[in-house]
Amino acid sequence: MMADENSRDVSALRTPQLRGHHLICLQFVHGGGHTAEFARNVLRTIGRLTEEEGTIAAGADDLCEACTYLVDGVCTNEGEGQGEEAVRVLDALALQLLGLKPGDTFDYGTTSASVTRVLDRWRELACAGCPSEDSCAPLIDLTCRFQPHE
Ligand code: SF4
Repeated sequence: MMADENSRDVSALRTPQLRGHHLICLQFVHGGGHTAEFARNVLRTIGRLTEEEGTIAAGADDLCEACTYLVDGVCTNEGEGQGEEAVRVLDALALQLLGLKPGDTFDYGTTSASVTRVLDRWRELACAGCPSEDSCAPLIDLTCRFQPHE
């Protein structure tokens, strides 16, 4: 069952929540291939994150709430090689690369800057075979090209 409007009203009362891999993928995927409601929710969540701190979710997050693959609180996107178990592996990898853990708060701007520094590793370990790989690739290429050198 996809989350209804009431649950989204409730989530609007707490800090925005993102699961680990969405900290990275949200920079490059903006709802393409999903429903219009999912795309609207992506933009709504990004808007909230530009104004307030977010919290790292241990599982389904504010983006999942508008996703048709979320069933009884878990990701069922197994048709595309994901599913909750595989998604949690991606979440753990993203959090390890970014030095974060579930329950941590984060500033979206700061985290976005950190994402550019781990993109090479993320691409190597996580992007291959993802259904969004081709659509994300041009923006990831650009980001990698212009990432600051330390
Ligand atoms: S596919 Fe799974 S992880 Fe991605 S937004 Fe939907 S429910 Fe969440």
